[in-house]
Amino acid sequence: MLILFDIDATLIKTSRACLHAMSDGFEHLFGRPCSLEGIQYAGCLDPVIFRNVLVKNNVETTNENLANFRDQYRQGLSQRLDVPGTGYLLPGAAELVSSLDAIDDLTLGLLTGNFEDTGRMKLERCGLDTSPFVVNAFGDESPHEPPLRRHLVDVALSRFKCAFGKKMDPAEVVVIGDSPHDVECAKSNGCRSLAVATGLHDANLLRSEGADLAVDSLADTRHLTTWITQR
Ligand SMILES: [Mg+2]
Repeated sequence: MLILFDIDATLIKTSRACLHAMSDGFEHLFGRPCSLEGIQYAGCLDPVIFRNVLVKNNVETTNENLANFRDQYRQGLSQRLDVPGTGYLLPGAAELVSSLDAIDDLTLGLLTGNFEDTGRMKLERCGLDTSPFVVNAFGDESPHEPPLRRHLVDVALSRFKCAFGKKMDPAEVVVIGDSPHDVECAKSNGCRSLAVATGLHDANLLRSEGADLAVDSLADTRHLTTWITQR
């Protein structure tokens, strides 16, 4: 089995540090405040979010502007995460990762809208060891245009095949996340969806979106480990 975890509002929260780092970074680069009104974040891909912020604020989406914006964001995020209490692990997150990591024949990974560098930074600053996550798909790795979260399952599956020399059946994959995008990503690829209502959406909404299991938190390690490992 392959278990793919979302990052934000699933494993950790960062007290809006990402939004602040984005708006500070924009202002530093372009010399004026930016509007983030109407920009969707939850379950979305970082490269799409960054592009949408530039478009919304009438900045050309050149590769140079996007790269500089991302660079400023990374620096700002790092500074903000230095402030104690800004980033923190959600209840049960570390325990669930440890519990699953201890099971043979089970591979863990990240499937996230984050860029790899800032995604790993967030987890590490929140105190989560990222070494159990060995098959990952990050926000800028969709090979399609427009890039969508659902494309990242194939990225993870081909990484699994490269790493282990065998195919992983999508039905043996569990996608864990907090947003309807995580649920859709799982279901459209034939994977199981475990939804956790620690983000913007409650468990009933996530269930109605098609989650196979929706819980209020990851705190019940034993129950979730049993559910995930059932076949
Ligand atoms: Mg999330």
